[in-house]
Amino acid sequence: MREKYSNYENLLKELKDIFTTTQYISEEEWNRLVRKHKKVNGATPSKNEILDYIKKQKGEVNKGLIEHIQMKPTRSISGVIPITIFTKPYKCSGNCIFCPKSTKAPKSYLPEEPGIQRAIYFKYDPYQQVQGRINALKAIGHDTNKVELIISGGTWDDYDLNYRIWYVTEVFRSLNNQPSKKFNPKNNYTNNESLKELTELHKKNETALLRNVGISIETRPDKINKESIKWYRRFGITKVQVGIQSLDEKLLKLNNREHSLTQIYQALGLLRLAGLKIHIHWMCNLYGSNVQKDHKDFRKLFLNKNIKPDEIKIYPCSILEGTFLNQLFRQGKYHPYDTETLTELLIKCKGHIPRYCRINRLIRDIPSNLIIEGNKVTNLRQKIQGIMKKRNLKCQCIRCREIKNKRDENLSLRTTRYKTSVSKEFFLEFVNPQDQIAGFLRLSIYTKQKALLSDTFAMIRELHVYGKSLNFEKKSQLSSQHVGLGTKLLQEAEKIVKKKKLDKISVIAAVGTRGYYVKRGYSTKDSYGYLIKDLNNVSKEK
Ligand code: SF4
Ligand SMILES: [Zn+2]
Repeated sequence: MREKYSNYENLLKELKDIFTTTQYISEEEWNRLVRKHKKVNGATPSKNEILDYIKKQKGEVNKGLIEHIQMKPTRSISGVIPITIFTKPYKCSGNCIFCPKSTKAPKSYLPEEPGIQRAIYFKYDPYQQVQGRINALKAIGHDTNKVELIISGGTWDDYDLNYRIWYVTEVFRSLNNQPSKKFNPKNNYTNNESLKELTELHKKNETALLRNVGISIETRPDKINKESIKWYRRFGITKVQVGIQSLDEKLLKLNNREHSLTQIYQALGLLRLAGLKIHIHWMCNLYGSNVQKDHKDFRKLFLNKNIKPDEIKIYPCSILEGTFLNQLFRQGKYHPYDTETLTELLIKCKGHIPRYCRINRLIRDIPSNLIIEGNKVTNLRQKIQGIMKKRNLKCQCIRCREIKNKRDENLSLRTTRYKTSVSKEFFLEFVNPQDQIAGFLRLSIYTKQKALLSDTFAMIRELHVYGKSLNFEKKSQLSSQHVGLGTKLLQEAEKIVKKKKLDKISVIAAVGTRGYYVKRGYSTKDSYGYLIKDLNNVSKEK
């Protein structure tokens, strides 16, 4: 094994260094490490190979290190296993000046990106991609029975509806371990038979071994309307990633976004009314922007009642081959910030993040050799964390406060209230004395109308309890899951709703979590997968 690596001891040394100071290694950092320490044949070592190597080392079996690598905290620390799969290469109705195009990858992605490489290996087949990721995660010791699916690639709503229906159906066939069926271009998948099959697959997944606890897709604001949301819910989607990029109408135009600010507001309002989790993509360093404008724009994300996202990915703009931005760069009309400027801007931005928001990414995971100009530091997030620590600054986003695998009995409930254009929001969280978060719940009380597709004014949009992903019945000293935190959060939300003199509450449940809510007195009454509890009739509770 040893001769396969060019610089193996150094990889191990770097890993040990990281794990002596933190329990946490980000996806970007992991990719940076394996790319830096390639095998002699030029390939990046797989996690299995690294684990095999460590285990084979005589007299030096580092159990702690193995455990850390197996856990890969960014994958399972949140209590579920996120699996990213991609849709096939396809065009997008937008034509943003910074967006790369390739015939080998879906719009906005590059074939060389690690995730896309995996998708290419499976020929973008959804069934195979799910199986492939599950098998890989199982092989390195994960419990994979709670699966969050992140469907990535271009603009979901631009794909043909037949393809989208087939794609999601295949995903559930894969999770349920039922045989795959190839896409048939002659089929009309919108017919009742195909949709009935999808409903049955969902039903089966409620009790399957690999349960789906969430699905997200990526789309543009101008593609979101009542009709598209109905489809999201038929598919079982619980979160929508919306590229908004900026709140500056001029910048949207300059960067050829081809949608307005009003369309952003309308889209996010509708998503909130449907109980969907709102995950925005925001960019700094767009063409025409500067550090002051970016800082102001970022602040507005949490001051403007039309935005206030649940999650955010921050993508500093960088120059990629084949983009119009590259032409502007060559003409001297655009230049990306240097690393120091970008670092200081991101530190300032982190200071504005409210408790209810989670920063899912701070930079995009693009191999630095593909970036013509722009940030090439792949572990910038960690560097920023280090600087903030030295300066005694804290980011209070959800991700930075997750309790990880610690069990803490000394928890107290904290409620953050905020208003949006369509609702009063209640962010309930159980925190320990260090302000680490063991579980949280998002409750929307709609102020102008009932939920978009459910007959209530109150909606639980998310319930999340942290801890290493565990088997459904398995209890662990390590984890804060299954100790009733979820139930407690639900009860608190129900109390708030009753106080508002409302008698019903809905929850947007992923297919595989429906059973959890049924046990707590909720039941399905509609075809869009919401569960409702009648708060005047608590005798239903089992
Ligand atoms: S909307 Fe997204 S995928 Fe489409 S061109 Fe713009 S950045 Fe690329
Ligand atoms: Zn943070």
